[in-house]
Order: sequence, then structure tokens, then C-alpha cells
Amino acid sequence: MTHILVVEDEPSLRQLLTNNLTFEGYAVTAVDDGGAALSAHKSHRADLIVLDLMLPTMDGYQVLQQLRERQDSVPVLMLTARGAEVDRIQGLSLGADDYLVKPFSVLELLARIKAILRRTRPLDRPLVLKSGPYRFDLPALEVARDGKTLVLTPREFRLVEILITHPGRTHSRQELLNLAWEADARPTPRTVDVHIANLRKKLGEDEGRPWIATVGGEGYRWTAPVEPEA
Ligand code: CA
Repeated sequence: MTHILVVEDEPSLRQLLTNNLTFEGYAVTAVDDGGAALSAHKSHRADLIVLDLMLPTMDGYQVLQQLRERQDSVPVLMLTARGAEVDRIQGLSLGADDYLVKPFSVLELLARIKAILRRTRPLDRPLVLKSGPYRFDLPALEVARDGKTLVLTPREFRLVEILITHPGRTHSRQELLNLAWEADARPTPRTVDVHIANLRKKLGEDEGRPWIATVGGEGYRWTAPVEPEA
């Protein structure tokens, strides 16, 4: 179920959005401030965030900035005040995916959400990927190197799957924790390091050729090009 996080301090609008999105079949979490939004997203990752820019304590800009600083590319649809063009420009430059000017129609909001999810979600991704000496069979949860199957734990497979399906993109430890561990598990960022270290060992990383790069102490990235199997 697609999970949408609504961040809006105006109670009536927050309720309206929650009701409509729930009716449309989305799982909805609604909060009234930026800090609450970040912790809600951390404990139950959203597939999209509807983010009001003007919020009481931590505003929408700060939320957006913090998300993008930690390389979290969750799609963000911002809600801005009429006439506040500078808000829209700043929000888009901070990495928002789209915006709506208040007051907006709920139908317009739903259409924008669908459009964003369509373009940010690779629904028809290929099932078998190749990269370097590796072949990843995603449905079978199998990785082979030069034709020889490697034995990975489900968690290791999930981690490498996240990395190879977003090659070139850095994933922060926190993001990997959110994506590869259950919400009620309480692993630490160090746990990610340990699993990545094991994964590298099993992948048989070549000297001077890191398939999984550590990026500036902040996260991990798959370095080689990835192609669907022909
Ligand atoms: Ca507001």
C-alpha cells in the first residue's frame, strides 16, 4: 500500500487531505509540524510527502533540506501560499518534485500525486540485472558472480538490491535502515556498516575496484553501470 505523509498545520485542511487520500486507497499519516514529519518518516517511511511550506516550528523548507541533505529522494509535493512565487522557486531548488498553490482542488492534488508516483516509481523494472561480473535475479533473490551463485542472507540481498536498482546514487545509512529493516527492528547505523562489510566480502570485491563505494562517511553507492539482461 502506498504510504503518504501529510504535513499540514491547518487542522481542517489536514483532515480533508487525510480523508480524501484514505478514500483513494492510500495509507495516510498526518502531522502538523516539520519535526513530527521527519520522525514519522523515519519510523514509517513515506512513498510521497505532501508538505505545507509554512509550518509553526520547523517549516517545510527545513524538512526538505534535511531530507535531501541525507540523500533521501522521497517525492515531495509542496503546498504554497498564493502569490508566494519565491517559495515555489526555493522549494523546487531544494528538491521538491512539484507544488500546488493554495487553495487547490482535491482532484488536482490527487492528479499531481498520481503523476509524481508514476514518474518516480519504476513499476516495470527489469527482473534480471547485470553489472560487472554479477547477475542479479531479483525475483529468485539470487546473485551470481561469473556464473557462480553467491550465498547471501535475505538482508544482504535486500541491501544489494536497493543499491543496484539505484546505481550511482548514494544511500545514507539511515535510508538503508529504513528500506532494509522492519520498522520495529532497532538497528543502529553501525549495523548497516557490518552488513555492507559482509556483503562486500561475499561479492568478492576486487582490489582497487569497489563495487560498493563508501561515500564521504555518509552512505553507500553501487559504482558500476547496471543493465537489464538482454
Ligand atoms: Ca501552514
